Amino acid sequence: MQLSTSKIEALKEQLATPQSIVILSHTNPDGDAIGSSLAWAEILRKQGHQVTCIVPNRYPYYLEFMPNISDIVVFKNDDKGVAKEALRRADIIFCLDFHLLSRLEQLGDIIDDNQHAKRILIDHHLDPSEDFDLMISYSEASSTCYLVALIIEKMFGIEHISRTMAENLFVGMMTDTGNFAFSSVTPDVFRVVSHLAETGISIPDIHTNVYNSFSEGRARLFGYVINRKMKIFHNGTVAHMSLTEEEMRRFWFQQGDSEGFVNYPLTIKKMKISAMFTEHSDFIRVSLRSRGNIDVNLFAQRYFNGGGHKNAAGGKSFMSMEETLAHYEKCIKEYAAEGML
Ligand code: 5GP
Ligand code: MN
Repeated sequence: MQLSTSKIEALKEQLATPQSIVILSHTNPDGDAIGSSLAWAEILRKQGHQVTCIVPNRYPYYLEFMPNISDIVVFKNDDKGVAKEALRRADIIFCLDFHLLSRLEQLGDIIDDNQHAKRILIDHHLDPSEDFDLMISYSEASSTCYLVALIIEKMFGIEHISRTMAENLFVGMMTDTGNFAFSSVTPDVFRVVSHLAETGISIPDIHTNVYNSFSEGRARLFGYVINRKMKIFHNGTVAHMSLTEEEMRRFWFQQGDSEGFVNYPLTIKKMKISAMFTEHSDFIRVSLRSRGNIDVNLFAQRYFNGGGHKNAAGGKSFMSMEETLAHYEKCIKEYAAEGML
């Protein structure tokens, strides 16, 4: 993967003098969203820019160890209006790790208050919208953190990646690639990782912090979901699981606790598609994963107002849980009838 030289030149031009910058990432921010935002913020601050990182809602508790994460403004809890003021003042708004302004939910409504700021996208999702003045968008990139590392390398030199930046970037590179196991992983990803490792980060510590720092409730919830809520159909090749708000309360649910559950059915050899449906106050969140050539990005776009990547996508349903599950099963039949499964 080669970054476009003209885009990097355009980016350099935008950043030639100190700017007031906002970095935004998506709702339900994950390791890649947070890691890319924090690393990008750190290098920009070092270049003399003023930077505010904003996410629409809270990040999961197990990411709290990430360096400088407390600098991130959580729009939902922002009683003092810090986010609104930073957005109003911004010369540049960077949008990291998402491709549609709708993924900002209510935060999206206030970015229109600022019509003079340049909007710059740095992302790796398929089919980005046209709402940006500059788009650094590579769907073949395995994570936004990897992209940010390449941009830093090309603009300033890889030696400008500090240990804290490396730690943040490593989190996103690791989580978005399923521990460097997905088909999006290239030799160059490991080249970048080797530079990150050179800064002295502790890979075992990061791994433990991300994957072995959950609550007891999460472990019990996982057992419950797999044992009681996983339905397998379509000749053993399709699975779905669901969680209602009542079930989440029963297991002392904290945001992020069901992250990753959707991958588990794909540990079954025959499995092709897995879906997880989680109930929220006014919609059901849909999370989809697939194996190989099966395209859940298209499936999410068509049937669940969503999108993402070929093998990992998401969306929303505004029906009841029962209707949503029935809709999913019907859509699977239709998809299979078209030869897409
Ligand atoms: P996850 O299942 O981990 O929440 O999301 C998987 C992928 O699907 C992510 O890359 C995410 O950006 C994308 N995605 C999740 N929810 C939505 C959604 O509501 N709309 C769109 N367009 N993409 C989504
Ligand atoms: Mn990502």
